[in-house]
Amino acid sequence: MTTTTSDLPVVVIGAGPAGLAAAAHLVERGIEPLVLEAGPTAASAVREWSHVRLFSTWGELTDPAAEKLLAPTGWTKPDASTYPSGGDWAELYLQPLADVLGESVRTGATVTGVSRTGRDRVVDADRATQPFVVHLTTADGSEERVFAQAVIDASGTWTTPSPAGGSGLPALGEKSAADRITYRVPDLKDPAIRARYAGKRTAVIGSGASAFTALAYLADLAKSDDGTGTHAVWILRRGISGSTFGGGEADQLPARGALGLAAKAAVDNGHADAVTGFRTEAIERNSDGRLVLVGEDGRRLHAVDEVIVLTGMRPDLTFLDELRLGLDERLQAPVDLAPLIDPNQHSCGTVYPHGHRELSHPEPGVYLVGMKSYGRAPTFLAMTGYEQVRSVTAAIAGDLASADRVELTLPETGVCGGAGLFDAPAADQADGSGCCAPAPALVQLGVGAPLAALAEETPAGGCCSS
Ligand SMILES: Cc1cc2nc3c(=O)[nH]c(=O)nc-3n(C[C@H](O)[C@H](O)[C@H](O)COP(=O)(O)OP(=O)(O)OC[C@H]3O[C@@H](n4cnc5c(N)ncnc54)[C@H](O)[C@@H]3O)c2cc1C
Repeated sequence: MTTTTSDLPVVVIGAGPAGLAAAAHLVERGIEPLVLEAGPTAASAVREWSHVRLFSTWGELTDPAAEKLLAPTGWTKPDASTYPSGGDWAELYLQPLADVLGESVRTGATVTGVSRTGRDRVVDADRATQPFVVHLTTADGSEERVFAQAVIDASGTWTTPSPAGGSGLPALGEKSAADRITYRVPDLKDPAIRARYAGKRTAVIGSGASAFTALAYLADLAKSDDGTGTHAVWILRRGISGSTFGGGEADQLPARGALGLAAKAAVDNGHADAVTGFRTEAIERNSDGRLVLVGEDGRRLHAVDEVIVLTGMRPDLTFLDELRLGLDERLQAPVDLAPLIDPNQHSCGTVYPHGHRELSHPEPGVYLVGMKSYGRAPTFLAMTGYEQVRSVTAAIAGDLASADRVELTLPETGVCGGAGLFDAPAADQADGSGCCAPAPALVQLGVGAPLAALAEETPAGGCCSS
């Protein structure tokens, strides 16, 4: 870092768990952070899923440098063995952390562009010695720019959910059906939202933890007095196999395993029908306003009142367009990180802790961390992000010995079996290229067919541990 730039702050984009932890590590190292947060408060994205209970315990959700910063304020860490909701995470940890960081956190500041000062993406001359310039829009709509010695993009992926369309594009008609579609796990404790789903037939598209949660919520609603007639239709691109419901009891994060089991119970108990091998091509509107999902294979499903699309998130890379990033063409994650987290290869927690080397780009001084670093890969854990920012901030401080050290052991999911993405031909999955993959045993379920037999297929232990 030259003297031209080293007096400048490190701009951190996003005041979520990863961004705030990055700021805490920078403070610990005597480097000034400037956290720019688009929302009106810190942890704006986490607050939008306040009602969802995390599958990680408090012991896995706080960053060590952040704890050190908080300690003198009288902050006490919640019981490490308990599971917070998103709202608890924001109120009891993230907001106090933002408070102690004080003016280093600017809310209502949406980053709209990052570049090298006076150099667009094409220009080589003196590039690495130029400060970064960061453009932002404030809450009142005015524009500003700030300069930085380095940029840590911790802006997550929450704002850019993937669409319902099986090809990754919005299904035909998806946009015009927006009044009956949500891309979030609904908060059924909110009376207005509860009324939207009570007694209704709802399609849930997706097969990750959020889809499991939505199915479990709808099953609970169906069982309650005001929810009679509530029914879910669970749309999966794949068939159902032993790994569909996650690691279950073999998951080293038991609450994450329990989410899959709750989804399984929703199907077993008849609160949800599973429709497998279905890739949504179009969403049509009936004469009564209800929605009909049409598959790429021509199947047309019975009309539903609502659709909940939980097909994952993707990174917003538009404001990084003037930077020279090295991103994997599949996942849009840093190239050296992508092979560790590619869901075509891994559905288990085989990612090893990683840091500045895996997260660096051809453009020195810029890092994507946190949820955004995983691009489209679905298995990010907060504790992974804390280790990332520890290493990245050490590298920015020039402490490569610390930056290269690994200080974390990650839990395994016990959810193995290669691709979680597609009904790949059996040969693809059985060739050993998957992550300790058992032979796929896809089961096409009839409507409401019991899933109990499938429990036997779930790997008995964390199969990747062998
Ligand atoms: C429902 C749900 C449950 C989860 N449960 C767990 C769990 O149990 N355990 C676990 O380890 N992980 C869990 N995760 C995954 C992950 O840990 C969280 O998503 C976590 O919030 C990611 O932190 P982050 O800081 O990377 O991103 P975010 O929390 O998304 O924070 C990014 C911030 O950047 C801001 N931002 C976005 N764009 C801009 C911009 N252009 N300019 C300025 N600011 C911007 C956003 O407003 C947001 O505040 C869960 C995720 C979800 C969605």
